[in-house]
Amino acid sequence: MLQPLFLKPVFKERIWGGIALATEFGYDIPTDHTGECWAISAHPNGPSMIENGPYAGMTLDELWKEHPELFGNPKEEVFPLLTKILDANTDLSVQVHPEDDYAKAHENGELGKTECWYILDCKEGADMIFGHNAKTKEELRQKIVEGKWNELLRKVKIKPGDFFYVPSGTIHALCQGTLVLETQQSCDTTYRVYDYNRRDLEGNLRELHLDKAIDVTTVPHLNTNVIPKVEKRENATVTSFIESKFFSVYKWTVNGKATFTADNRYLLVSVIKGDGALVHAGERYPLKKGSHFILPVGTSEFQLDGDVEFIVSHT
Ligand code: ZN
Repeated sequence: MLQPLFLKPVFKERIWGGIALATEFGYDIPTDHTGECWAISAHPNGPSMIENGPYAGMTLDELWKEHPELFGNPKEEVFPLLTKILDANTDLSVQVHPEDDYAKAHENGELGKTECWYILDCKEGADMIFGHNAKTKEELRQKIVEGKWNELLRKVKIKPGDFFYVPSGTIHALCQGTLVLETQQSCDTTYRVYDYNRRDLEGNLRELHLDKAIDVTTVPHLNTNVIPKVEKRENATVTSFIESKFFSVYKWTVNGKATFTADNRYLLVSVIKGDGALVHAGERYPLKKGSHFILPVGTSEFQLDGDVEFIVSHT
């Protein structure tokens, strides 16, 4: 009998992290500089573990290898997606990620990293860094070398509920006081461009990767405005944010009992607000803010019950 796969997150200490993952999501975080919750992960740097059912105790990467039928016998060697929640208690470094071919050649066969953000919460009037103003690679290099960050970096205003698509090659940074759910390719490669000359907990500057960053940055900046599509259903609203070759991402807002079908794909599901239950094959699984699960291929019809918001993704 197919069951949903509930996952135990992995937490990462970061210089810019805080305590919001405990205060907002109720997680038992390891330190008061906890920056990342790797909620649905098969990445070797922090795979999440299955919590329930016949596969309890296995990590997601083990399950991917040993039970490919749960994922529709995929051709990809590694689980392609990674869902995180990020607590930017202070500004993150300005960074850029490589695309697949560059990462494969330069980062031991890693995937590239296209990512996207759903803004869970942020300070009033918060902004983030998204793109740059250079017209050529030469100009990009020049402004970086001279440290002309105000001229180079583009800032955009953000508010809770906003969604941003961040293709590989986009210079970006989350700014102080932002809580984000990130859906990304399963990759842990970041090229740091600028770190505000900060020192880490041991007093060291963090390494920059300027040559690689300049190599992979898209010039000129390509704007990727997301126009959400909203569909009303019985007791639910489905908002489609993005359908790309890497992933599709949705928000499901449920008020009452709503029926969904998973078709022929596996779904990654994160509860971002409220509580309720998942009902499938006569079983009722309680859900609360901060629950994460995968619905395997073949789940077909299921119900979501309660006043709950979800971020859902698939490849
Ligand atoms: Zn990033």
